[in-house]
Amino acid sequence: MSAGSTTPVGTVAGVAGEVAAKAGVGVGASVPGRAAGGAGAVAAAAAAAVASGVAAGAAASGLGARRGGTAAPERPPRPAQPVAEVAQEWGALQAQVAACEACGLCAKRRQAVFGAGAVQAPRWLVVGEAPGEQDDRHGEPFQGRAGMLLQAMLRATGVVPNQPVYYTNIVKCRPVGNRTPRPEEIQACLPYLRRQIALLAPAGIVALGRVAAQALLDTEADFESLRGQVHRVRKEDGGEVPLVVTYHPALLLSRPQHKAGAWRDLNLLRAVVA
Ligand code: SF4
Repeated sequence: MSAGSTTPVGTVAGVAGEVAAKAGVGVGASVPGRAAGGAGAVAAAAAAAVASGVAAGAAASGLGARRGGTAAPERPPRPAQPVAEVAQEWGALQAQVAACEACGLCAKRRQAVFGAGAVQAPRWLVVGEAPGEQDDRHGEPFQGRAGMLLQAMLRATGVVPNQPVYYTNIVKCRPVGNRTPRPEEIQACLPYLRRQIALLAPAGIVALGRVAAQALLDTEADFESLRGQVHRVRKEDGGEVPLVVTYHPALLLSRPQHKAGAWRDLNLLRAVVA
């Protein structure tokens, strides 16, 4: 995916401590959104597949024995391998992610967190970094205080409840301790997000935080330098989607001084998408 830019808006001071702030994300509400017809059934089937897969994996790897008190060494991280064949259809894609073992993040997840919200031509696609502990528990992204703040921000800009929104992350499985996903984990998982973008065909994308911004724009540019512009993300069909970078709401919980900048960022995309 490539990036371009227009419409400078301005910058706000640095984002050091973003990861530490993410680690403080708490518990709570789910993300409101419009669930698609049939998606719930697929999710349930996928969750069942994951549950059985986890159980089988636990037995095969001796996890049951460890719970019984026998010490066993941690297995080394599984080498990440980008997914070669990505499902074409939404339901099949969801099931593929639920069963995916393409990178080591699968080893410690309760379940993969595919995404949630409106799947019928959403106007906005909101992309974060990775599922948190509560997301992993409930199977939906942006749970807890960070999700509540995200909803408040989207309401403040008039996006919610007036425009359909879909929410997901760069990687679909939770890194233990909310650590930043490794580059190889991001590369392994990106084909799923690219296919989600192709199938959802959103009118605009919001990248929350440095990791999401750099992954979606395929750049190592400084986070602040990516804000205040409307980038263009190339889709699989060759089309482009406008993308705006802003702060992850988990950061804003500890650094509320950046809320004004986030509000400007969201309004920048709203002006393009509206
Ligand atoms: S993070 Fe993505 S690539 Fe890694 S196991 Fe989960 S779904 Fe597969």
